[in-house]
Amino acid sequence: MKKVILVRYGEIILKGLNRPVFEDKLIGNIKKALYGFGKVSITKSQARIYVEPQTEEYDFEAAMDKLTKVFGIVSVSPVWKINTEFEEMKEYSLKLVEDLIERKGYKTFKVETKRGNKRFPMQSPEVSRELGAHLLSNIPSLSVDVNNPSFILYVEVRESTYIYSEIIPANGGLPVGTNGKVMLLLSGGIDSPVAGWMMAKRGVEIEAVHFYSYPYTSERAKEKVIELAQILATYCQRINLHVVPFTDIQLAINEKCPHDQMTIIMRRIMMIISERISRKVGALALVTGESMGQVASQTIQSLAVTNAVVSMPVFRPLIGMDKNEVIEIARKINTFETSILPYEDCCTVFVAKHPNTRPQLEKILQSETRLEGIEDMINKAIEDTEVIKVVAK
Ligand code: ATP
Ligand code: MG
Repeated sequence: MKKVILVRYGEIILKGLNRPVFEDKLIGNIKKALYGFGKVSITKSQARIYVEPQTEEYDFEAAMDKLTKVFGIVSVSPVWKINTEFEEMKEYSLKLVEDLIERKGYKTFKVETKRGNKRFPMQSPEVSRELGAHLLSNIPSLSVDVNNPSFILYVEVRESTYIYSEIIPANGGLPVGTNGKVMLLLSGGIDSPVAGWMMAKRGVEIEAVHFYSYPYTSERAKEKVIELAQILATYCQRINLHVVPFTDIQLAINEKCPHDQMTIIMRRIMMIISERISRKVGALALVTGESMGQVASQTIQSLAVTNAVVSMPVFRPLIGMDKNEVIEIARKINTFETSILPYEDCCTVFVAKHPNTRPQLEKILQSETRLEGIEDMINKAIEDTEVIKVVAK
């Protein structure tokens, strides 16, 4: 008997002729995710992937936890791989179920068999029935419940036979790297990490840009953003984080432009800089954590004026979500606790008491003409941008 991890993937199956490309990418991402856990052999067979550790003390729990973070994977199971012989099926089913009962105290069960290997002489219902009977006669506390069992013993008869009970759900999506690259505007807040996660889930590679206004925002605020990028990187392996010094530009806006337009003008310049960095690194779209109507800069008028300054597509995966829905995902993906650390963001430092919620593009353009030398300031900010290669912790 060998312990292996069974990996199921879903949507990739729909990809027709591209399917091998997606599968190979997924396998590559699995290898990277499990790097450091010890030697494994990874095989693909009939729309399943099997991860077989080659070392004795392999940390199954941690490896499975890691795999649930790899996009493209729908679920994983710890599985026992045995020879396709009925005596072995009996022996190891009993061991597996005894172990399960000891850990979980289950009382009722059923057996479900799938026979892919038609050379095996017994049919699926017969295997289920015989194994069920074997378990019942050896474990007196156990009874069958076909409608609502506390666990199901799955038996998959293939070249080898796989037996298991646990199915651990993962996030689905598509393998990161199958769909080009985007630039995430990453603040220290709750929303933008979630937005980045949702894009990565669709197979997109993420780079991130963060604007900071030292000394108005602290070194610790920047570290918080690096930490958020590290958490995001557990889902997409590596993130280049572009940290843009934004103080001079903010001070100029603060000095020259009407205060009720400050946020929107600042947002527009963030977009300009993000777009230019994107062009340099080959990112094809911008991503923000904006959600319709959440704050003054996220009314439809504000979003339209913000968009008007760039020509790249801007994706806002949270646009239709309520804050509590975003928070739910933030908790699930483990960014929430870091996001709520109380360090100031550059937007909160220079914020108007009464921001304009219905900005008009002509007026904003007019105000922006007061920012003489802004082109040089933008170029300088891009020149002075620090690129941090962030990897998962
Ligand atoms: P978040 O929780 O992501 O900070 P928010 O609800 O606080 O969002 P805003 O502060 O208005 O909203 O920011 C809207 C979006 O603008 C953010 O989701 C992010 O994509 C981008 N953004 C804001 N501040 C910064 C920053 N300092 N650096 C990079 N992007 C930023
Ligand atoms: Mg914010």
